[in-house]
Amino acid sequence: MSDPRSRIPGLDRLLDHSGTRPFLARFPRPRVADALREAVATARDAVGRGEWPHDPADPDPYLAHAGRRLEADAVASLRPVINATGVVLHTNLGRAPLAPEARAAMDRVTAGYANLEFDLGAGVRGSRYDHCRDLLRELTGADDAVVVNNCAGALVLVLNTLATGRGVVVSRGELVEIGGGFRIPDMLARAGARLVEVGTTNRTRLADYEEALSGGEPVGAILKVHRSNFRVTGFTAEVELAELAALAAEGGVPLVHDVGSGLLVDPGTLGLPPEPTAGQSLARGATVAVFSGDKLLGGPQAGVVAGAASTVEAVRRNPLCRALRVDKATLAGLEATLRLYRDPATVRDRIPVLRMLTASLDDLDARARALALELEGVAGAGRVEVADAVGRVGGGTYPDHGLPGRVVRLVEPAAGADALAGRLRAASPPVVVRIDEGAVVVDLRTVAPEADGVVVRALVEALAPSGARDGVEDGA
Ligand SMILES: *Cc1c(COP(=O)(O)O)cnc(C)c1O
Repeated sequence: MSDPRSRIPGLDRLLDHSGTRPFLARFPRPRVADALREAVATARDAVGRGEWPHDPADPDPYLAHAGRRLEADAVASLRPVINATGVVLHTNLGRAPLAPEARAAMDRVTAGYANLEFDLGAGVRGSRYDHCRDLLRELTGADDAVVVNNCAGALVLVLNTLATGRGVVVSRGELVEIGGGFRIPDMLARAGARLVEVGTTNRTRLADYEEALSGGEPVGAILKVHRSNFRVTGFTAEVELAELAALAAEGGVPLVHDVGSGLLVDPGTLGLPPEPTAGQSLARGATVAVFSGDKLLGGPQAGVVAGAASTVEAVRRNPLCRALRVDKATLAGLEATLRLYRDPATVRDRIPVLRMLTASLDDLDARARALALELEGVAGAGRVEVADAVGRVGGGTYPDHGLPGRVVRLVEPAAGADALAGRLRAASPPVVVRIDEGAVVVDLRTVAPEADGVVVRALVEALAPSGARDGVEDGA
């Protein structure tokens, strides 16, 4: 009897097969050939062991295998997901979703060329740093401003500009880790500055700063880091920014304030506790403030240095600035986002992050009820409840401030909460939910209202018996 492996069709025959044509219409020929080759190689072993459940001459199983492979391979690594966690600035999910105006602006300038570094009036070379400058001055009261890659970069750049080979005075209560391994002392060292720690973890007084300034060692800057992601409570003392500014001015030392979040409106109007805006920071005497573009500002990833003209100019001339520069898409998105702040009456509705933070309980309740109604009676959903829940600002801001909301809870779904959450992550687009004590929690605060239907469909599909779900692995 001849070896059954000899009956497996050759690669050329499979490539010419009519069933391969749809693949060739969508994927490059070498990719299709690779997928078929892989399918045949996988089958060859099974055929040899007599464990191939099909006729080795039948091309269909090879085509099916290749098709699955090509589809899986075509899925982009970085793609949109639906954030149903209720954490607004979810760093793992890309922080701030952008306003339509910002997206359109980014699309416009990236589709072709742009006047990124070109002065259209004079027809000569211009500067990319001009584009957001006037808006940032207008919105923060700064004399000048420069945009770089992110706030961490902005801080390194400022300290490297002001304090290479010199001391930077920081309170021991602010020697923090921001996240992702970004630690103030390490960052200072990389910026070429020497850390001058003052005070203690819980208490730092003005006299501590005074002592450091009169210590005889050259000091390049005083740094104040806003405590974005943690709180110090109990027996504490901190020096107010204005007091520190007066001391810095007296000593002729610049005061750098890392405000972090990039909030540009009074947090009270968002129902949030006090937190410094860049404008307040500068008004209280900081020489420069640095902040993020993609936290509470609600724009693309960016970092801003805003403040005194001479310092910002020195930052702009620092060769490191070139290494941290932003591209035209970022500048276009940031500019369009900043423009929305010009109208205080509408900004809360037009910037997605601000809209999500201020979503009304009534609105969240209505959306949760509509979702629950769609899921009631769906087999395997478990007990479907609409319940109170606490959303989060996220992004390392407002660590102890909850956003009162209403969510849908699927309590003890048949598949188990973990497996159901896994199926939702495998959906297209993936839906990311929270799990709480055996329940899958769906918080629509962070879902664009027009995407509520997508969440319903993903849930209904994820709840369907596994045979009815195409290509979705359990507990992925
Ligand atoms: C988030 C944060 C940073 C880092 O901002 P990125 O834009 O993520 O680099 C720096 N400082 C403070 C106080 C922050 O809250």
